[in-house]
Amino acid sequence: AEAGTPPDFDNSYARLPERLFARLPPTPVKAPRLLRLNEGLAAELGLDPTWLGSEAGVATLAGNHVPQGAEPIAQAYAGHQFGQFNPALGDGRAILLGEVLTPAGERRDIQLKGSGPTPFSRRGDGRAGVGPVLREYIISEAMAAFGIPTTRSLAAVATGEWIFREDAVPGAVLTRTAASHIRVGTFQYFAARRDTDALRALADHAIARHDPVAAADANPALALFRGVVARQADLIARWMLVGFIHGVMNTDNCAISGETIDYGPCAFLDAFHTAAVFSSIDHGGRYAFGNQPGIAHWNLARLAEAMLPLFAGDEDQAVALAREALGGFATAFGGAWREGLLRKVGIAAAAEGDEQIVQDLLDLMEKGQADFTLTFRGLCDAVEDPAALDRVRSLFADPAAFDPWAARWQARIAADGTAPAARAVAMRAVNPAYIPRNHIVEAALAAAVQQDDLGPFEALLAVLARPFEEQPGRERYAAPPQPEERVLATFCGT
Ligand code: AMP
Ligand code: MG
Ligand code: MG
Repeated sequence: AEAGTPPDFDNSYARLPERLFARLPPTPVKAPRLLRLNEGLAAELGLDPTWLGSEAGVATLAGNHVPQGAEPIAQAYAGHQFGQFNPALGDGRAILLGEVLTPAGERRDIQLKGSGPTPFSRRGDGRAGVGPVLREYIISEAMAAFGIPTTRSLAAVATGEWIFREDAVPGAVLTRTAASHIRVGTFQYFAARRDTDALRALADHAIARHDPVAAADANPALALFRGVVARQADLIARWMLVGFIHGVMNTDNCAISGETIDYGPCAFLDAFHTAAVFSSIDHGGRYAFGNQPGIAHWNLARLAEAMLPLFAGDEDQAVALAREALGGFATAFGGAWREGLLRKVGIAAAAEGDEQIVQDLLDLMEKGQADFTLTFRGLCDAVEDPAALDRVRSLFADPAAFDPWAARWQARIAADGTAPAARAVAMRAVNPAYIPRNHIVEAALAAAVQQDDLGPFEALLAVLARPFEEQPGRERYAAPPQPEERVLATFCGT
C-alpha cells in the first residue's frame, strides 16, 4: 500500500482480431529517471500519482515493467505521408499498454512512445529523444489548457541511454493518453488489404468508443464517418483560431476521435501569415497554416474511400453516401471558423457585414505582419480601455493602416449594447494571453537537453496551464521573438 495502487487495465483493442496489431512488450531501458509526472491528468484518469511515482510506476512508464492486467501491443496502420501512400506504417516506436476507465466513465489509452522497436519499426530504432518528448509534453498540455481536443502527456521518463540522430542525444519515453489511437490510416491499412471483416471490426470498435449513438443508426458506419467529419472540421477551426500549425497532417496522424495527435514539427504563428510553414520537411508547403482545412478534407476523402465497403453493398450507392457526408466538412469548418473569429473580436451574434470585418482584420494582419496572439488579446483590453488600442496599432508594420478598421470595429461593437466589462471577459476567454511561443519552447528544451535543467520547462508549463489569465511578472512569455530569436524551422518529432 506504501507504493500506492496500480492501474486497473482493460484491453478492448487487444481483444479485436489479431491482425490489427502485434503483441509485444516494451523494450527495457538502462536507467529510468522520471522527468515529469502529470498529477492533474493522473487524477482525471483515476490513476494513483503515488503509484506512478513509485519504483514500479516509473519502471512501467519507462517500459521496464509490464503491470498486471496490461496486454501490450503495437497497432497496425497505413497512411498517406505528404500525399504518398504507405500501406505498412504502424506503431514503430510505441506500445499500447492498455486502456483505463476514468472516474467519468471514459475509456483512455495508455501508450508508451519511444519504447523500443516493434515489427512496424522499418529502419527506425523505436526510440525518442528527450527534446521531442518534452516538446510534445509542453504543446499537448497547452492545447488541453486551450480546451482543444488532444492526446495528453501523462509522464516523461529519461532512459539513461543515448540515441543517434544527426548527433547523439539523450533518450526518453513519453506516456501518451488518448481517447483512442485509431487513425484514418488504421482504416486504410485494412482497406489496402481488402480485409472488409477487419474494417468492420475496427468500425464497430470505433463506434463503441467515439460514436455510440451511431450504433442505432440505419447505417452505423456512415454515421461514424459523419462523426469523424464533424470532429475534424471543429478541430481544424480550433487549431487555426489559436494560430496552430500541425505541420505533418498525414492520414496516419489524423485521429478518428477528433483529438490532435502527433506533435512533431508543429508550431504556433507569431506574425500572422496564411502561408506559414515551419516544418523542415514540408518543402512544398503542403501543410501550411491556411492549407489545413483543405488537407483535413483530403484526409477525410481517403477515409471515405477506405470505409466504402461498409457504407453500402452497391458501390455507386456507397460513393453517393460518402460524397454527401464529406460535403458536410466545408459547411461545418466554415461555420466554426467564422463563428470563432467573430467571438475573438467580441461579436456574439453575427449581423450583416461582420464577416467582412474579421476578414479585413486578417488581411491587415497579414500585410502588417501583426502578431496573431497579441492583436486579439490587445483588442480585449481595447474594449475597456481605448488607450490599449494604441498598443494594438503598434503591432502593425503600418500602424495608420489599422486606424480605419479600428474605428469600424468600435462602432460595430458599440451598436450591440453589451457592457464593455462583460465583452472583455468573453473575449479573454477565447483569446489566450500565452501560447507556446516557438523561441521559448526551444530555449526550455535546450536547457533540459544540454544542461539537464528542467527549470525553464517547468516554468513554461506553469504559465501555459492558465493561458487565458494575465500572469503578472510573466510578460516575457507573452512577448513575440526578437528578430534574432525567431524560430524559422521545426524538426520532425524524433
Ligand atoms: P510520424 O512521422 O511521427 O507520424 O511517424 C511515421 C511513422 O514512422 C510511424 O509508423 C512511426 O511509428 C514511425 N517512426 C517514427 N520514428 C520512429 C523511430 N524512431 N523508430 C521506429 N519507427 C519510427
Ligand atoms: Mg505519427
Ligand atoms: Mg511523430
